[in-house]
Amino acid sequence: MPVELKVKIKEIIRRNYNVKSFRLEPPGDLDFKAGQFLSVQLKDDPRLKKYLSISSSPTEKCYLEFTKKLTESDFSKVLDDLKAGDQVTIQYPFGKFVLDESFSKIVFLSGGIGITPIRSICKYVVDKNLGNDIVLVYANRSVRDVVFKEDFDAMVKNYSNLKVAHVLCETEPGFKCTVGRINAQVIKNEVSDYRERKFYLCGPPQMVEAMCKLLLEELGIAKERVVTENFQGY
Ligand SMILES: Cc1cc2nc3c(=O)[nH]c(=O)nc-3n(C[C@H](O)[C@H](O)[C@H](O)COP(=O)(O)OP(=O)(O)OC[C@H]3O[C@@H](n4cnc5c(N)ncnc54)[C@H](O)[C@@H]3O)c2cc1C
Repeated sequence: MPVELKVKIKEIIRRNYNVKSFRLEPPGDLDFKAGQFLSVQLKDDPRLKKYLSISSSPTEKCYLEFTKKLTESDFSKVLDDLKAGDQVTIQYPFGKFVLDESFSKIVFLSGGIGITPIRSICKYVVDKNLGNDIVLVYANRSVRDVVFKEDFDAMVKNYSNLKVAHVLCETEPGFKCTVGRINAQVIKNEVSDYRERKFYLCGPPQMVEAMCKLLLEELGIAKERVVTENFQGY
């Protein structure tokens, strides 16, 4: 059952030019599964409420983190002005975008801020050394839009079964990536055994829909092997 709590912001981390992570004081036992989401309400104002994925892993017990792309909206502006020590109201946990531990081979397909629940799941798998074989195909407009790059670099170093394949719309000197969009050829190139894997897709609804179509219609993946999380609102 989701619970509602008022919690203090412990730390704020700038991830890139328009993305910030907010680390909250841990609300008791962190009772959630990697990949789930929470609601965040600001200033006790029901108009300032959004659903946001939890970007930390249950193994990170010192905080509960969410990560927001900041836009021109009222919610984003109020959030951007918050400081460590300020309070927010959260409800959690919600959602079914969680790891199916019976499936050892996994592909994550993500775009932009859609990486948040995937960061949580990957961190959980790495910290618990679960052994899952993971390929993350992560699409962004440019390298400045990539979120959690250092986190994923560190995870790849510590866990040999994690591969991260970046896809960017433009080339970036010194940055290993495919230029273009995620398509059938990119998946075949990056995940040669894609037929044996379970797919987790997260991002804006348009992207998730396009990726679903690609997997089901072009690559012949069974529907039961595709799990999705739609970031409604983008
Ligand atoms: C299950 C789930 C998980 C999610 N997880 C995340 C997550 O981890 N991180 C995340 O960032 N999002 C996540 N989202 C999406 C999130 O809930 C918001 O819908 C999204 O972040 C858009 O919020 P916004 O602040 O842009 O506000 P909105 O009000 O939705 O704004 C939408 C757009 O309108 C523009 N706009 C709004 N008001 C104004 C104004 N006054 N002037 C000019 N332009 C304006 C904004 O710039 C923005 O581009 C998730 C959604 C779901 C359903």
